[in-house]
Amino acid sequence: MSNNDILFERAQRSTPGGVNSPVRAFRSVGGTPRFVTRAQGPYFWDADGKRYIDYIGSWGPAIVGHAHPQVISAVQQAAVNGLSFGAPTEGEILMAEEICKLVPSIEQVRLVSSGTEAAMSALRLARGATGRDLIIKFEGCYHGHADSLLVKAGSGLLTFGNPTSSGVPADFAKHTMVLDYNHPQQLEDVFSKMGSSIAAVIVEPVAGNMNLLRATPEFLQTMRRLCTQHGAILMFDEVMSGFRVALGGAQALYDIKPDMTVLGKVIGGGLPVAAFGGRADLMQHLAPLGGVYQAGTLSGNPVAVAAGMSTLKIIQQPGFYEHLTAQTRKLVDGLCSAASEAGIDFCGDAIGGMFGLYFTRKLPVNYAEMMTCDKERFNRFFHAMLDAGVYLAPSAFEAGFVSAMHDDAVIAETVSTAAAAFKSLSA
Ligand SMILES: *Cc1c(COP(=O)(O)O)cnc(C)c1O
Repeated sequence: MSNNDILFERAQRSTPGGVNSPVRAFRSVGGTPRFVTRAQGPYFWDADGKRYIDYIGSWGPAIVGHAHPQVISAVQQAAVNGLSFGAPTEGEILMAEEICKLVPSIEQVRLVSSGTEAAMSALRLARGATGRDLIIKFEGCYHGHADSLLVKAGSGLLTFGNPTSSGVPADFAKHTMVLDYNHPQQLEDVFSKMGSSIAAVIVEPVAGNMNLLRATPEFLQTMRRLCTQHGAILMFDEVMSGFRVALGGAQALYDIKPDMTVLGKVIGGGLPVAAFGGRADLMQHLAPLGGVYQAGTLSGNPVAVAAGMSTLKIIQQPGFYEHLTAQTRKLVDGLCSAASEAGIDFCGDAIGGMFGLYFTRKLPVNYAEMMTCDKERFNRFFHAMLDAGVYLAPSAFEAGFVSAMHDDAVIAETVSTAAAAFKSLSA
């Protein structure tokens, strides 16, 4: 038995499924999760001392590479001054100012500790500010695990959603309507019938939780226009895409200004920081100024904010995104040509430092198309790569992440590993 096997067996005795977040359990791909002992740059090492090239980067935060010396030093310096005070610090102001500067649609921001918390609080704010209950979301988008967001489409277009998790009352789910991604006509139909009761439309403007999927500009523009017309709040969930697809997030790429934005992952640089922000007139509805309650004992934690701030500084260095985008593109192009040489139906896509791999012939445009990708083939590919020391997301329906430390040698090693893995699939 490997040390990973031993740890996994032990973990399952004290923790449900042996993990603290379900995807880590490898249920989708099968096999034993790798227990990480340390990480550096583009690599991490497991409990057997085996090295992997890491393409999840903590699901996005490790954009500057693991254990970057500047980030570690910022965390160490903050830690010696105390870990948490429950009273304000200057670091929180610096972080808020930095976020407002980098994402101009955000005039004011509040810091929280997870993307789930940020999305949940942002929706409460949207409902409080509009006095409306109904939320529109899109199939395949993930916004954390708050009750009103664990919802899938009902039986027909104008019907309310059904819970995707037990424990979510149907009474909560009925305030959420789930539409198809990249289907502007559905938005038109729903707004024309019930526009005056819609509090907010929440969307991943580049979707990353059903593998990587690009929104069409028309889809996002339609949403923007309808929200403005009907007084609904357009909320971009950029927990994953923020500072990942571009410095200003997907809203900079598409040149669309949402009313509110939800952030997380990269802004914590690996520690728990998330945020929601937007128009100042909306943010004024939050306690202590307004009637929408929201609070957090560890919100704006000084050590976490130090990690986040130093990460936000590094990604603003000249050429950072050009390099990250080029490396990610090299990876995807390399994988596509290796697959094509092996005669495998495969395609890939990349935006900034984020990528998607699809075992199908052409890029999917919505959730239903995404679900037609060959999951069994992905699973075999995943394990061939893992055995050879390349760690991809352990599911056919997750995006992948490249860091600035994935240099040409690392990408070349990945592509040659993949070439062998693709050949083994066609054999
Ligand atoms: C990861 C993610 C979340 C949830 O963030 P947590 O920190 O895991 O709670 C919300 N929305 C999107 C788009 C995400 O990718």
